[in-house]
Amino acid sequence: MADMMTRSPIDERIFTGSAAMPQIAAVATWTFGQIAVRAALPLLRQGQSALDAALAGAQAVEDDPTVQSVGYGGIANAIGAVSLDACVMEGRTLNCGGVAGVENIRHVAALARRVMERTPHVLLVGEGARLFAVQQGFPLETLHTPEAVAQWYKERPKAAPPGQPPRLGPGHDTVTVLTLDQKGSLGGVCTTSGLAHKLPGRVGDSPLIGAGLYVDDTAGAAGATGVGEEIIRSGGSFFVVEQMRAGRSPQEACEAAIHRVNAVAIRRGVHPARVAFLALDVKGRIGAACTTNTNFRYAVNKGDQTVELRTAPEIAATPR
Ligand code: ASP
Repeated sequence: MADMMTRSPIDERIFTGSAAMPQIAAVATWTFGQIAVRAALPLLRQGQSALDAALAGAQAVEDDPTVQSVGYGGIANAIGAVSLDACVMEGRTLNCGGVAGVENIRHVAALARRVMERTPHVLLVGEGARLFAVQQGFPLETLHTPEAVAQWYKERPKAAPPGQPPRLGPGHDTVTVLTLDQKGSLGGVCTTSGLAHKLPGRVGDSPLIGAGLYVDDTAGAAGATGVGEEIIRSGGSFFVVEQMRAGRSPQEACEAAIHRVNAVAIRRGVHPARVAFLALDVKGRIGAACTTNTNFRYAVNKGDQTVELRTAPEIAATPR
């Protein structure tokens, strides 16, 4: 673990953030983001790319069976299948890839990277994505843990009355990891099992470039978590990045995006939509904001030994 490492003279330069070494940073959504930033940090220190580090962080969360909304042990959909969504993006090249509705593959963020690197496409879904995974040598495995199966049985979806929308279960959350490497480049990864008890075939914001994630070295990186339908509808992460391009700080950009989500949700009668954004720019500045009643927490490491857990400000809708 990064925390246990003894510092070398090179580490010392990173820790003190001296001019000799550009600042590195890793941020990730929710308390389980701590697992991600701990896994990402050693790679950033070694000089590996922002995307390598973000992927290592996301994968550590995918591997953790106690995280109930990502990867192995993720929350099942309405028919009890664990169906995963993920995407990756590189800020230097704007290369990106995503996979959606993938069953039986644990490391969907790594699979999204293969889509980026080994296909002419950006997004593969369902059975096609799974076939591609098999071709790429990813093992097929069950993603159900005994605990997750027991929980699904306990809370399993009841049929909605005729004409009513299906009922979703409690719980969701995505790990979105944003990183800044020694070369001053940004990377981002998003991975989730999505909304609990979602309809089979439902795709949220998390595998969609521009919705769940957008990364551009010339403007900044942003990721989202929360109700994917509202994030997609408001242009989520791309909106945050474009705010930074227009000169807003990462914090101002996230707050502007939440104001937009609030306005859309009020117009549609679904306020308050539970949505949060996280952002990072090439100067290592961090921003985060969420809608009311979201209690969005995120993990931060700016190259020192401590992983800090911060709480984002909740932005109330401004009356018109
Ligand atoms: N955004 C995810 C989705 O809608 C869920 C979450 O991050 O809470 O699938």
